[in-house]
Amino acid sequence: MSESKKYAVFTIDVEAFSDTGCISALGKNACSDADSCLMDGLERYLSLLEWHGIRSTMFALASTAKKLGDKLREYVRRGHEPALHGLNHTSLDSMDNERFREETVAAKALLEKELGTDINGYRAPFFSLDNEKLEILNELGFSYDSSRMAYPGSDHNGKLDVSGFDKVLCEAYRRGDFFEYGISHKKFFGMNVPISGGGYIRLSGPGWGAVRSMIESYAKTEDLYIFYLHPFELSQNTPPCPRELAAHDKYYLRHGLRDYCAKIEAIIDILKRHGFEFITFDALTRILKQKGGTPCGSSS
Ligand SMILES: [Zn+2]
Repeated sequence: MSESKKYAVFTIDVEAFSDTGCISALGKNACSDADSCLMDGLERYLSLLEWHGIRSTMFALASTAKKLGDKLREYVRRGHEPALHGLNHTSLDSMDNERFREETVAAKALLEKELGTDINGYRAPFFSLDNEKLEILNELGFSYDSSRMAYPGSDHNGKLDVSGFDKVLCEAYRRGDFFEYGISHKKFFGMNVPISGGGYIRLSGPGWGAVRSMIESYAKTEDLYIFYLHPFELSQNTPPCPRELAAHDKYYLRHGLRDYCAKIEAIIDILKRHGFEFITFDALTRILKQKGGTPCGSSS
């Protein structure tokens, strides 16, 4: 039996701390004075990945890219790959299709001009993409999207139906030359448990041992792993926590920050031991396109 290749994609959503859902819900400009000092997490993440020879896919907001132009250009020179996270960090639920089309055209053009490179990939703010908007991405010339969450998250996500696609890797789906990459999860007693980063890994606390075992078990059998996080989660500075935030939001913003680097390194170690190749989404998409349209159908 021939051994199929396994791929891991490490991503980051390049957005400001004030774009975080619970903060932006407080109103315009809440905590925006903390944005620049919490963006050091982006450099720490990319440096950590580079230490392991890994290059990241960076889903950038056009609004953030305008402020971080020099830094993002430097990261692109270092081999990290830009993709689009939207014009602003607005949930697509609150946007009709025409506005989505206009904003996405404008954001793509802005990011391409700012970084001097083509933008082929998209991830929706709050993973809030639905199928109608996915068709618009396809029409606008994007090669892939990575907005699918197959587990309970916020009210915004879980709307993307890939039943019209061929499954080509674990949580990678193809229709024609367009690809949808879902966020990794592990089935556990019939439930989809997130194992892909963000707050889900960071907040695991005493449950980290169990989560790490799930990732180990996933890595043994599956052929695509996707990781994501936000810059503030690796910042060396403590995020502000406005008094009016709910207790669970305060917990989300402040918990598990100090040992997140160690968890990411543990995940990289697991993936290396199980023979994963670390790759960006553009490179993976090129490989999958060359393979033709045959689904290889791993289990989910
Ligand atoms: Zn985001």
